[in-house]
Amino acid sequence: MGASPSILDPRSVILLAGVMGVVMALVVFFMQRSYPRSIQGLAEWARAPLVAFVSTMLFAARGYFPDFLTIVVANFVLYQACILYYAGSQKFLFGRSDTRGWTVLNCVLAVALFWFGIVKPDFEMRLLFVTLAVSALFFRHAQLYMRHTGRVFGKRLMTGLLLAQALVAALRFVSVVAGMAGSGLMEGSWIQSLYISMYSFTVLLLTIAAILMATDRVHTEFEYLATRDPLTGALNRRAVLDACEGAFTSGERRGALLMVDLDHFKDINDRFGHQMGDAVLREAVHRMQRAIGDKGVLGRYGGEEFVVLLPESGKAEAMEIAARLRQAVGEPFPADSSMAVVGSMAVSIGVAAGESSSGGAGIDDVLALADAALYRAKAMGRDRVIAAA
Ligand code: GH3
Ligand code: MG
Ligand code: MG
Repeated sequence: MGASPSILDPRSVILLAGVMGVVMALVVFFMQRSYPRSIQGLAEWARAPLVAFVSTMLFAARGYFPDFLTIVVANFVLYQACILYYAGSQKFLFGRSDTRGWTVLNCVLAVALFWFGIVKPDFEMRLLFVTLAVSALFFRHAQLYMRHTGRVFGKRLMTGLLLAQALVAALRFVSVVAGMAGSGLMEGSWIQSLYISMYSFTVLLLTIAAILMATDRVHTEFEYLATRDPLTGALNRRAVLDACEGAFTSGERRGALLMVDLDHFKDINDRFGHQMGDAVLREAVHRMQRAIGDKGVLGRYGGEEFVVLLPESGKAEAMEIAARLRQAVGEPFPADSSMAVVGSMAVSIGVAAGESSSGGAGIDDVLALADAALYRAKAMGRDRVIAAA
C-alpha cells in the first residue's frame, strides 16, 4: 500500500477523528447523568462514538491485522455504530426504538463482506455493498428529522449531516459503478479521502448535533416547568402576571383581564373528594382554554381562581369571550364521563378592560377592577359575568 503523499492521509484522519469521538462520548455520558430522564436517546448517542472508535481502530490496522478483523468485523462494528445513532434519534424523538431490521441487514452485509473480503477478495464489490447500506441507513435516519422539522439549530445540523453522509455514500457508490473505485481503503485519491474524512468527522459532528438538540430540549422542558401549573397545565401565577405586566405597563389602553372563580367549588371537594375536585379543575381549564382560543392566555391565580389576559381585546370583545367561557364551563358533564356524578359546574367572572381605568392603566389597577367585578358577580348570586364599573 505504500505511504502516499496525500495531505489527508486516511489513516491519520481515521485515528484522529476516532479519538475525538471518544472524547465526545465522554461528554454525552456525563451529560446523560445530569439530564432529566425525560430526555431519551443519550445513552445510545454516548455509546455510538465508542463503538465507532472500536471500528476505527480496526480500520486503521488494515494491513497489520488479519483481513477478517479489518474488513468484516470493522465494517460490522461501524454499521452497528450508525444503527446506534439511529436508535438514539428514535428514542429522542419517539421515546422508543426498533432497529432489528437494520441489524439483520448488517448481518447480511457481514456475509457479503466475508465473501468479497476473504473468500473472493474484491474491493469494488465490498464498496458497493457498504456504500449502499450506509446510504440507505443515513437517508432513513435523516427522514426521521425531516418529518420533525423545527427551528432548533441542532436538529438542522443533524438533518444536514445525515443527508450529506447519505449523499457522499451514494456518490461513492456511483463512483464505483463508474469504475473509479480505486485500489483500497488507504488509497490517497481525493474521492477516497473525502469519503473517509466525511465518515470520520460525521461521528464527531453527529454527537455535537445530538448535544445541541438535547440541551435545547432540557431548556424547553425547564422553561415549561417554570411557567406552568403542574395540575392543570395553565400558566402559573408568576407567568400569567408577568404576561399581564408586559401587556399593561406600556400605558396603552388596550387589552382586558378576566378574573374567573369556580362557584361553590369547596362543595365538590366535600361531596366527591379532592381527587374529583382536581379532575374538575383540569376539565374546567381545558374548557376555558378552548373558549379563549388564541385570543389570550389563561393562568391559575390561586386555588380555583384564574386570570385570563386578553391582550388585544376591548371591553366588548372581553365580555363576549367571558360569556363564551361561562357557557363552556357550565356545560353538563357527559354521562359517560367520570365526572358525571358532579353534574355540572359554574363560574363567576369579573371583566376589566384597560380602557375602563382612568389614565395609563397599570396591571394592579386592572386586576383590582376585575376582582371587584368578580366580587359583585358572587354577591349577585354567582354563575354570571359582570363588567367593572
Ligand atoms: P365561591 O362560590 O364563593 O367561590 O365558593 P368556593 O367554595 O368555590 O370558594 P372557597 O374559596 O370557599 O373554596 C375554594 C376551594 O377550592 C377550597 C379549596 O379546598 C379548593 N381548592 C383549591 N385548590 C384546589 C386544588 O388544587 N384541588 C382541589 N381539589 N381543590 C382545591
Ligand atoms: Mg370559588
Ligand atoms: Mg376562590
